[in-house]
Amino acid sequence: MPVQLLKEVEDEVTRFLSALIRINTTNPPGNETAAAKYLAENLSSEGFKCELFESAPARGSVITRLKGTGEKPSLLLLSHLDVVAADPEEWSVDPFAGVVKDGFVWGRGALDMKGMTAVEVMVLKLLKRNGVELKGNVVLAATADEEQGGLSGADYLLRNYPEMIFAPYVLNEGGGLAVPTRSGNVFTVQTAEKGILWFKVKAKGTPGHGSMPNVADNAIMHMNKLVEKLGNYRSRVALVPTVKRFLEEIAREDAALQEPFSRLLANPEFADDVLDELAKTSPQLAEEIRPRLRMTITPTIISGGVKENVIPSECETVFDCRILPGQESTQTIALIKALLDEVDSEKLVFEGLQVQEPSESTAETPLYDTISAVLREFEPNCGVTPMLTTGGTDSRFFRRKGSVCYGFQPMHPEEASSGKVVKREHGIDERISIENLVFGTSVLYETVKKFMT
Ligand SMILES: [Zn+2]
Repeated sequence: MPVQLLKEVEDEVTRFLSALIRINTTNPPGNETAAAKYLAENLSSEGFKCELFESAPARGSVITRLKGTGEKPSLLLLSHLDVVAADPEEWSVDPFAGVVKDGFVWGRGALDMKGMTAVEVMVLKLLKRNGVELKGNVVLAATADEEQGGLSGADYLLRNYPEMIFAPYVLNEGGGLAVPTRSGNVFTVQTAEKGILWFKVKAKGTPGHGSMPNVADNAIMHMNKLVEKLGNYRSRVALVPTVKRFLEEIAREDAALQEPFSRLLANPEFADDVLDELAKTSPQLAEEIRPRLRMTITPTIISGGVKENVIPSECETVFDCRILPGQESTQTIALIKALLDEVDSEKLVFEGLQVQEPSESTAETPLYDTISAVLREFEPNCGVTPMLTTGGTDSRFFRRKGSVCYGFQPMHPEEASSGKVVKREHGIDERISIENLVFGTSVLYETVKKFMT
């Protein structure tokens, strides 16, 4: 018998998410404790024992669990409670009112990621209400600080309370959204994420009068050359296992992509030619793939100069560099320094700002197989693919400790206009459809039940 959508949870999961959005957890400062307490009260009323952890005043995370027999490894349902800022002036509704209208729950965090927190809480309650006999612990953690790097949330908990939060398997944000193709939906499972290397370069010159450009040594002119060099730098293409499999799975569902993707897979060094061609018909897909094939360097902040008529002796630029799994930050830094030397070794000074190593989990696990099987119970003809995200999530802390982590918030694309998938995470009028809350709960519940019994 085909599995059914859990229509009966619609009201409960909608109300919970709406209430969670009303607790403003904009980070900074975060104030996640209020949200953690709300979650704890909701679960306590159903007999769950919840524990609150504060890394600093008001920076709370909450953890609870359903005990299993110990025959199977534990599974952690992870989410973060903080959100990025929202400017009410730009929105068509109050971003912190938890508005429910037109079949959507509106507000900051609806997608990233209070929507998934609501789904995970619902799944936990259903497992308990339905008396599902678990063979392993199902742990739920809703944490602080993800949007500012996670050091005061997931990383803090993993460092100080590993016995409470560590699990060999983790489900988190980052994937789950289906990619529409010509022959149907391909659901994504985030199995890998790029690493972050933020750095600053200072250009040094000598000051002088703005009317005498040849006498002084203008730092902006040195920086100009460097921005040109790094901004246009094309590193070697590297096909990591997740991206290779992603291209194969998408091509399997879309006949028109079989020829170009097999060319790309056979000759990664010609990837840019293949993607330039693809961009003529599917620009969004081409630009989604491009940064997943190589390390990227993007200038994001530049400052220099103090006065109209003074030639500046200093200019600074911040770069956002993203590296692929398998690439190491130390090697990347050496490469960047070599590029600096090519421009001007005397005048340019490198300074590292932040490093987050890339991470990847294999898709060859029983959890991945369970996810695929459950999705096909709901949609017999759908595809499933591992995916690499260009941005980072808290999963990296767990992958570093050896957990298999998947980003999996099962969702259908919400508004497909002109074949484009609209992304509203961190954007204006962020919202999630009630249909997707029910779909997400249903798929996640079946996945956990199947995996843990
Ligand atoms: Zn997030």
